[in-house]
Amino acid sequence: MKKDLKFTPSLPRGLATAGHSVKYGSKFIPSAMGMLGRSKSDLFAPTWMRGGWNNSRGERFGGFTLDWWTDTAMFSYDALMVSAYYGMENPDFREYYKIPRKDFLFIADSGGFQISRHDIALEPADIIKWMEKNVDVGLTLDDPPTPEERTNLTLDLLKPHGMKSRRNYEVMHRSWKSDDLELLKVIQGDNVEQLEWWWDLMADLEFDGASIACRPPTPGQTAMGLGFMMHNDVKKVHVLLGTGDATIPVIIYARKWFDRLTVDSASFSLAGARYRTYYLPFARTQALEFGRQFTSTVKHLPCDCPVCRMATIDDMNIERGGHETKTASLSGGLIALHNLYTVLRHYWFLEVLSDDRDAYFKYLKSAGLTETIESIEFLEKVADVGYYDALGETQKDVEGWLA
Ligand SMILES: [Zn+2]
Repeated sequence: MKKDLKFTPSLPRGLATAGHSVKYGSKFIPSAMGMLGRSKSDLFAPTWMRGGWNNSRGERFGGFTLDWWTDTAMFSYDALMVSAYYGMENPDFREYYKIPRKDFLFIADSGGFQISRHDIALEPADIIKWMEKNVDVGLTLDDPPTPEERTNLTLDLLKPHGMKSRRNYEVMHRSWKSDDLELLKVIQGDNVEQLEWWWDLMADLEFDGASIACRPPTPGQTAMGLGFMMHNDVKKVHVLLGTGDATIPVIIYARKWFDRLTVDSASFSLAGARYRTYYLPFARTQALEFGRQFTSTVKHLPCDCPVCRMATIDDMNIERGGHETKTASLSGGLIALHNLYTVLRHYWFLEVLSDDRDAYFKYLKSAGLTETIESIEFLEKVADVGYYDALGETQKDVEGWLA
């Protein structure tokens, strides 16, 4: 009797369509679903951002919702990041969007970057109130250097931002009542001298951990910041926007020196929803461009993720009509969710491999990620001989860490 592949019982829900990919799916997807459903996320928080995937959040596709935390989602994952700048538009954000309270990590950036760009005022005390009601982990409200200052950040340029941030941190520290909200202290600085200055300025304000954002977000700059955290015995760390393909392997490897080390990114969402850029599943630096600019002659989606098993190329190509219409935003949402799955699959691969140092380094070498390897070796030295000795040994190879 001919086997009906369309109803293979071992496949996860929602896979009865997309006949061309079903034959691949029963092998890979169950383990991928295990990966995405594994206990608590301790790495990556996908970011909610205006104009991103969440434009399509109220829509449905084949009966499924376009999120990753409700029981009507196409796949599940257990973390989310939002900027308080956007989040505070809804006082009951978590309830409203049905974001789980159990076994889920919901992080809020305080919105310093958005606030500085849009020149609006958010009161630190109000941010804390909103965070206590809505999220598990919050970041203190810093006043970050401007992108222009950041191109060549000096200590003198950084200092006024530190003083303004200090006042915000004091208010947040005073207003913070709930034991259920963890607060991480945002530490700015693009070299060791600047990190030290900022760290010392905030030293008497005790928080649960810290958040860093050393720029540019290269593997080396990130390792410099992470090493500084190790030196100061910070156990819970969030790296803002540290998800570049060369940098993320450093962070994944460094998790063994921290209790919780997380990163966030909105790239999957902005690329997918705004530009309809579809990450190729096993070659993430390359992409297909859908929408108006679609010129490819591929006939099928080259992916077996839960989204692509249900969708077709036509679903990804629904045209925008002047402004984003409902259907065009659905297309963008589908691509964003596919991108997210692709990213999660890649991180999971790295997480698994990182337990085997030799295999991990061999892989990084084969991918040409030399600075990534050197940055991990630097952190191993930090763990071994301490931050400043490691810097002394490494300084000859690395430009700009010490002012
Ligand atoms: Zn896919």
